[in-house]
Amino acid sequence: QAKRTGRNAFRFFTSELQHRSQQLLRLSSALAQALPHGELQVLYQPQLALRDGRIVGAEALLRWQHPQLGAVSPTDFIPVAESSGRIIEIGGWVLQQALAAARRWADVPGAPYVAVNVSVLQLRHTGFVQRLCDLANSAGVPPQRVELEVTESVTAGEAEQARQMLQPLQEAGFPIAIDDFGTGYSSLTYLRRLGFARLKIDQAFVRDIGRDPDNEAIIRAIVQLARTLGLTTVAEGVETIEQASFLAREGCDLIQGWLVAAAMREADFVTLLGKHDPAGWRQRWLPGVD
Ligand code: C2E
Ligand code: MG
Ligand code: MG
Ligand code: MG
Repeated sequence: QAKRTGRNAFRFFTSELQHRSQQLLRLSSALAQALPHGELQVLYQPQLALRDGRIVGAEALLRWQHPQLGAVSPTDFIPVAESSGRIIEIGGWVLQQALAAARRWADVPGAPYVAVNVSVLQLRHTGFVQRLCDLANSAGVPPQRVELEVTESVTAGEAEQARQMLQPLQEAGFPIAIDDFGTGYSSLTYLRRLGFARLKIDQAFVRDIGRDPDNEAIIRAIVQLARTLGLTTVAEGVETIEQASFLAREGCDLIQGWLVAAAMREADFVTLLGKHDPAGWRQRWLPGVD
């Protein structure tokens, strides 16, 4: 009896695997056409300074709209793009789009920076730093206005390897942010040694504000640590007034999330900048917090 169940379970397992790998294959070949077919788009999500309510920058977020599959989430297709190597081409295109946007923003209120997610595969790719410098240079954007977001996986290996990867970018003037902080396994000593400019507190922590005192203690500790090491902090996925005021009280520098705005087209971001009222925003969303 046990044998039979085991065997069925095995069959079930293999057909699941087959199904899964077929799906991945389909996704991967669809992704090969995404760029030439114009199915990719970059949206921008504002980052707001809690201190004065100003919008200081925006994160570039990639979107893929496939004619049959519909909207595919980057959490599903980025790993596929990474395993097929296509992330190099796609990531390069995102950088190009983001730099062109940053060039246009030089003349809008506050001259916001752009933050771009880069895969560790891009960082490891030969000539990445040079190409990035060339792109920024020909777009006419100073590197200081282009922030690179890397995940904790960059710090997964030897600290020395990570340092060799990041240092040339820092020397070229690009600020580097550590994304989704707290979900991985980077040791705290890395934070200082690797010279990050910014730390992004993962939305998993932000979500539990007001629900879990241990979690609040963790955020408090992260903000303090970042401050001690001279990094600015951004909280991701901020949706409520309660979350924003907690973060403001704890001294978090910036927030990003639906409370401010979801990711939007570049034209809408520029419109938002034109009409955004920093003091009014603070009065409305952070009453009584100073
Ligand atoms: P991430 O860099 O941590 O981006 C933040 C994610 O949180 C985005 O998901 C954003 O749309 C979502 N988000 C923003 N505000 C809120 C909020 O208030 N509540 C909630 N629940 N979610 C919010 P998205 O756009 O689906 O991107 C997912 C991940 O895909 C990103 O996480 C990033 O790791 C990756 N990704 C996106 N674009 C690119 C890209 O151009 N290159 C690379 N390598 N990765 C990218
Ligand atoms: Mg990011
Ligand atoms: Mg993140
Ligand atoms: Mg994330």
